[in-house]
Amino acid sequence: MDENSMAKDSADRSGADSHGPDSHSADVIVVGGGFAGVTAARELARKGVRVLLIDRNPYHQFQPLLYQAATVQLGVSEVARPLRDIFRGERKVRVVVAEVTGVDPRAKTVTTADGGTYSAGHLVIAAGAEANFFNTPGAEENGFPLYSVEDAVDLGSAFVAALDEADRGAYDGELHVVVIGGGPTGVETAGAVAETIKYVIPDYFSPELAGRCHAHLVDMLPNVLNAFADRSKEYAQRNLERMGVQVHLGVGVSEVTREKVVLADGTEIPARITVWAGGLKASPLIAAAGLPQGRGGRVDVDPDLTVPGFEGVYVLGDAANMTDARGDRLPQLGSCAQQAGKWAARNILADRAGRPREPFKYVDKGYMAMVGRGSAVAEIGRKRMLMTGPLAFLAWLGVHVVLLSGGLQKLRALVSWPSGFISHRRSYVLLPRERS
Ligand SMILES: Cc1cc2nc3c(=O)[nH]c(=O)nc-3n(C[C@H](O)[C@H](O)[C@H](O)COP(=O)(O)OP(=O)(O)OC[C@H]3O[C@@H](n4cnc5c(N)ncnc54)[C@H](O)[C@@H]3O)c2cc1C
Repeated sequence: MDENSMAKDSADRSGADSHGPDSHSADVIVVGGGFAGVTAARELARKGVRVLLIDRNPYHQFQPLLYQAATVQLGVSEVARPLRDIFRGERKVRVVVAEVTGVDPRAKTVTTADGGTYSAGHLVIAAGAEANFFNTPGAEENGFPLYSVEDAVDLGSAFVAALDEADRGAYDGELHVVVIGGGPTGVETAGAVAETIKYVIPDYFSPELAGRCHAHLVDMLPNVLNAFADRSKEYAQRNLERMGVQVHLGVGVSEVTREKVVLADGTEIPARITVWAGGLKASPLIAAAGLPQGRGGRVDVDPDLTVPGFEGVYVLGDAANMTDARGDRLPQLGSCAQQAGKWAARNILADRAGRPREPFKYVDKGYMAMVGRGSAVAEIGRKRMLMTGPLAFLAWLGVHVVLLSGGLQKLRALVSWPSGFISHRRSYVLLPRERS
């Protein structure tokens, strides 16, 4: 029996072509509607498998563009898409919006904060990651992480509020924005803040206020973009400094307060706003599920993406330490999570058809980071073909349009990105939230 007839047979036997409103069971439960979870659910549904997709948010968020939302270059609807829109008309996928509080990987049940319990034959855990503050005193209380749409709105609102306060004279000092972490997120955020200071604040406020604003980037390593080639690292640092970012390298952060960032060598950088891009750890759900944790709290999965010792449980994307056929660790990237989602679906179909699972074959598309307008680094493909400048900038735009989910979102991005880059307009409204 092939995959399609197998799946149809399963649907026929369950007597359900779609989920009823009270259905708490399915063939597969997917926890997390990020890159990995959405892709897995879509692939399974296409083959007739009934999926329950559970996420705490009613939307799928697009992390690569969060720094643009945080600097008000894009609106929330350009960096998030409703899950119900992604799966509209897809009767095999039931979206449940709820906080998952417990997973029993042996019974294959999932519990939600409102007391719901859901069960399935297979579990796919794709709950992503969260900021890792590495116990740095004051970092969690006073720093702004950047992992979710809420984080981006909090950071953007604080930045706009700080500018308004400075403009009306609530304080007449200098406005320092300190970004901690020199990886792609930190570099992109620091670059976007510097561009805002250079091109936006003089127009929207005054050149005098722009003269009082400063962007900093701090990392304990001796260079930015540590995973990249030396030429990319040098290019990114040179361009950040050219744009006015003060780069502090080779020294860690020992404390973050409301007014400053203290470095391990005693240097104090005044900070009105501190952005924490210093690292990630797996979702706390992994520990709650009692799954074996490896580096970063993530699950060391087998090459076929299953959890050793837990039949029918898959962990994907940022929640997992995934390896390729040679045993090399795979990166925490959107395209890797997407491909893992597709592969897990394929292996679940194999399980259901009684065929052997296959080890995940990752197609390495390389690394990229945006530094500023017309300025980016890209190392394309497994062979790391190096690009910098406008060509890399265009490659970054192209790759991220492809990663975006849905034609409408791609179209919106194609219109709003270039116009935002050219005009430096900031026309989006951020509604401030009460920070949790
Ligand atoms: C700021 C930033 C910039 C990035 N830039 C790039 C880039 O330029 N290119 C690139 O390829 N990659 C980039 N990445 C990495 C990429 O976004 C991640 O690797 C990818 O999102 C991982 O996908 P995922 O599906 O594993 O997790 P996520 O996309 O994080 O999805 C996890 C989902 O699980 C849900 N969830 C978590 N816990 C619970 C719970 N308890 N109950 C219910 N739901 C829950 C969350 O709401 C979320 O929807 C970036 C990441 C960040 C943070």
